[in-house]
Amino acid sequence: MRMTQQRKKILNLLTESPQPKSAEMILNELPDHTMNLSTVYRTLDTFFEQGMISKSTMKNTAYYYINQKDHHHYMICIECQKMYEIDCHLDHIADQIAKDHHFKITHHDMTVYGYCEDCQKRLAEK
Ligand SMILES: [Zn+2]
Ligand SMILES: [Zn+2]
Repeated sequence: MRMTQQRKKILNLLTESPQPKSAEMILNELPDHTMNLSTVYRTLDTFFEQGMISKSTMKNTAYYYINQKDHHHYMICIECQKMYEIDCHLDHIADQIAKDHHFKITHHDMTVYGYCEDCQKRLAEK
């Protein structure tokens, strides 16, 4: 994969972001306006295929974040969209499954969806 200036900018934005970002958020934060939304999406797709980033989907919008070695996943409230970072406990399980199936893993993806405590309470009161 060629690391163009544009790709580097998007990758830097994601690296520096404490929270997952949607393609629209990334587009809005790019300093110059040389890219359009479909370029951003294409770039994100490429990163995703290369295993450089992960994504979580909420209300039909994908949110992207950097895949690190000691990476995190996210737990997302589907009501208020609050995101919680959770540690990855999947690597050793995935390794075992891969071994059983002679599968070579490049990366994985995991998001936990549900209702946060506040939303559970609010929904219960309705
Ligand atoms: Zn919530
Ligand atoms: Zn993981």
